[in-house]
Amino acid sequence: YTPTRQDFNQYMVPVFAPAEFILVRGEGSRLWAQNDTDYIDFAGGIAVNALGHAHPVAVNALIEQGKKLWHVSNNYTNEPVLVLAKKLVESTFADKVFFANSGAEANEAALKLARKVGLAKGKSTIVAFNNAFHGRTLFTVATGGQPKYSQDFAPLPSGIIHVPFNDLDTAKAVIDDKICAVIVEPIQGEGGVLPADRAFLQGLRRLCDEQGVVLIFDEVQTGVGRTGSLYAYMDTGVIPDILTTAKALGGGFPIGAMLTTDTYAKAFVVGDHGSTYGGNALACAVAGAVFDFINTPEVLAGVITRSQRMLDKLTQLNQTYQVFEAIRGKGLLLGAVLKPEYANNAKDIVSLASEQRLLVLVAGGNVVRFAPSLVISDEEIDEGMARFGRALQQFVHHTPSK
Ligand code: PLP
Repeated sequence: YTPTRQDFNQYMVPVFAPAEFILVRGEGSRLWAQNDTDYIDFAGGIAVNALGHAHPVAVNALIEQGKKLWHVSNNYTNEPVLVLAKKLVESTFADKVFFANSGAEANEAALKLARKVGLAKGKSTIVAFNNAFHGRTLFTVATGGQPKYSQDFAPLPSGIIHVPFNDLDTAKAVIDDKICAVIVEPIQGEGGVLPADRAFLQGLRRLCDEQGVVLIFDEVQTGVGRTGSLYAYMDTGVIPDILTTAKALGGGFPIGAMLTTDTYAKAFVVGDHGSTYGGNALACAVAGAVFDFINTPEVLAGVITRSQRMLDKLTQLNQTYQVFEAIRGKGLLLGAVLKPEYANNAKDIVSLASEQRLLVLVAGGNVVRFAPSLVISDEEIDEGMARFGRALQQFVHHTPSK
């Protein structure tokens, strides 16, 4: 039986609106659909496929572990999880790791840990930022700063305050010794590829230190090399107390993790939190191989070189088509912000790009987002940008500016 796109409408709960074509295989930053049409992948499965598709390092790790041991539950530990935990601890500020299966679950663990830490001091209020995105569990949609994702699901977890992103004065006005935690993305991903100012993050760190508040960095989208640093915090002069990572960590295999220091980790005791699959041997074996491959000076420096190539091409295209008012982001998490006259047309550009056989993403209505493989080739970048140019040509031709 060969499934069709119509089967999606018939059998799937309608929370997604996927493209009309069905992708069946990939290699590097190319994908092929059922009819053998090829696509260049600048979307990377939403910042997940850090090594592209079918990378031998990930495939071999999967096959080798697949033949040995997949899953034993947390009633037993396993070798791949211990190896991966050690790598994460040795490469970051953290002393301890909790494994989950997704970004939302990593954040759920972080928020619950922060609440447990706060409990001892009688405080529970979490400060989060407008437009933030932290996942789709009830606690994480409530913490995210986009009411459209939470408003239909009340009653929501309470004790969460939202303030404007990159506005230190407002943050200062709310962060007092009654606050339990602050959660922030170093670059707001879903919210529009909007980088936090260094001074903002440094100011949050200072306020948290002064008031005894836990600082959580959500690096689900920015982590594992995406910005050209292993983690984005490493280039901010700020060390968080808790960090969450997922997406690129497994290179396409579902895994998430919460990293923290001994001081905070000890607030959790046996039974406080858990997951059947968290720390699954198969996921950790793949993640360990992907992590080692990315965590080298060559691959991380390559992210910056590739970023520059993409930026140069985007700037050239924009000189021709005059569609974007800014191109922002860092490393291989880039956002092209539409000019006001094209406001909210980002989705149309994604559709036109897929007609030109290129996969790109939106970030909100106004930003076209690029999150390709960290090892995308020059040839794939150039071919993808040629296709993007044709999509922009169609876009300006067909879109009445406002
Ligand atoms: N946090 C951030 C910053 C994200 O970008 C995302 C997903 O886009 C999440 C959390 C949620 O991750 P997941 O979809 O794996 O639950």
